[in-house]
Amino acid sequence: MDHETAIVWLRRDLRVSDNPVFNAAMAAAKRIVPVFVVEERLWNSPGTNRTRFLSECLTELQASLDGRLLIKVGDPVDVLPDIAAKTKAGVVIRAGDVSPFASNRDQQVAQALQEQGVNIEVADWPWAVPPGTLATKSGTPFKVFTPYFKSWLQAVAMTPTVGPEAQQIVAAADHGLKSDPLPLVGATDAAMAPGGEAHAHELWHQFLHADLQGYNDGRDNPAADSTSRLSPYLKFGCIHPRQLLADLDVNIDAHRTFASELAWRDFYATVLHHWPHSAWQDWKDDLASIELNTGPQADEQFEQWCLGLTGYPLVDAGMRQLLAEGWMHNRVRMLTASFLVKDLHLHWSRGARHFMKHLVDGDISSNNHGWQWAAGTGTDAAPYFRIFNPIRQSERFDPDGDYIRRYIPELADVTGKAIHQPWTLPDGPPNGYPVPIVDHGEQRHIALERYKAARS
Ligand SMILES: Cc1cc2nc3c(=O)[nH]c(=O)nc-3n(C[C@H](O)[C@H](O)[C@H](O)COP(=O)(O)OP(=O)(O)OC[C@H]3O[C@@H](n4cnc5c(N)ncnc54)[C@H](O)[C@@H]3O)c2cc1C
Repeated sequence: MDHETAIVWLRRDLRVSDNPVFNAAMAAAKRIVPVFVVEERLWNSPGTNRTRFLSECLTELQASLDGRLLIKVGDPVDVLPDIAAKTKAGVVIRAGDVSPFASNRDQQVAQALQEQGVNIEVADWPWAVPPGTLATKSGTPFKVFTPYFKSWLQAVAMTPTVGPEAQQIVAAADHGLKSDPLPLVGATDAAMAPGGEAHAHELWHQFLHADLQGYNDGRDNPAADSTSRLSPYLKFGCIHPRQLLADLDVNIDAHRTFASELAWRDFYATVLHHWPHSAWQDWKDDLASIELNTGPQADEQFEQWCLGLTGYPLVDAGMRQLLAEGWMHNRVRMLTASFLVKDLHLHWSRGARHFMKHLVDGDISSNNHGWQWAAGTGTDAAPYFRIFNPIRQSERFDPDGDYIRRYIPELADVTGKAIHQPWTLPDGPPNGYPVPIVDHGEQRHIALERYKAARS
């Protein structure tokens, strides 16, 4: 124990159980000061759904820590050195991060602390395997998921670390400083599950004992809604992937498939770590010159896509689920992304920004690389010429139209196959639902032509 006091700087690790940042702090010092800095730029960003979820996570964590979480509003570059000075802390312990915004901020904070003789240490990461740990046989970063997953399975820690009991933390936390009240959260009426560690565990146990067994097929059925819904909890660290992996047996098919989804999350964080430009620019630039649609008509079609008014029911149901719940099923994320890029010929970053505005799980590495997968500019990208057909996808993944009817009230009374193509009904689509804003067959042809031109 080298220090009298250690600061635990919490960011995307808003939990008490299995949190090595607390363990490291308790090993380093007699007293710990758990701190969360509310960064106004993030708090006031357009992602109001995430801010609301975050505020719920903080309120719950504050209760778990018996009111000893020090919440301060401001810039961490100023706030942390100030708290360190007031508490005479010798070290700040935090988890790592990979987004360009976080990396830049963390560097500035480290410099400010070091100037006043305070060390900063990284004790954990929000991923099962820390980004940058795994490499190919030739020592280069993985660019393809399958070999990464093989290596990840070997590396992954299957047993969670033993987290300190909340009581221990509370006993060690004693700083006599006063928290700021949480700033107001912008208005949102999205119907979302509440944030926090307790709810994350509840969801996980429900999923583990019910839907996990049928995950291999169930995960592709948006109407069944049988995926874990843990993405926002993983995003804010209410639960760590280690804790999920500890309950899995990867020799069981469905468990292995679920583990592979956690590995995708890790993989995309690793890609961002090695290629930070891929946050908002094409990871590979072969399609840099592809012709995109611009101008008033393109803008109008983008708006129609955002509002779920493209006339393609499964695309629109997904976009409306996003607006209603701040979340969208993975299968439909893939389809709506493909539609924006290949049917509307818009740059993927436009759709990615809209997703980031609404997704409660919005995460730069998973979102923007998911988008690049759809656009054909990322790692493992779907070959550009494989273009999702919105009608076939609808017939295949929502055959009875239950998901469509849930989110598109205009189509609530449509029965049979017409739910996938309501414009074929004798009187056209009912209740003002639009006819398709573009013809998929024509747009597919245009996309392929533009692709060929860009490649040559
Ligand atoms: C265009 C697009 C944008 C996306 N944006 C995000 C995003 O901002 N944040 C986000 O967490 N996921 C994103 N995903 C991945 C995926 O859609 C969500 O993680 C998943 O739908 C969350 O639901 P769930 O928790 O029920 O998933 P489950 O099926 O229960 O999977 C468990 C966990 O594995 C991870 N996971 C699953 N699929 C993926 C994937 N394809 N890529 C990365 N991680 C995955 C998530 O953390 C998820 O919570 C995106 C996918 C696409 C195609």
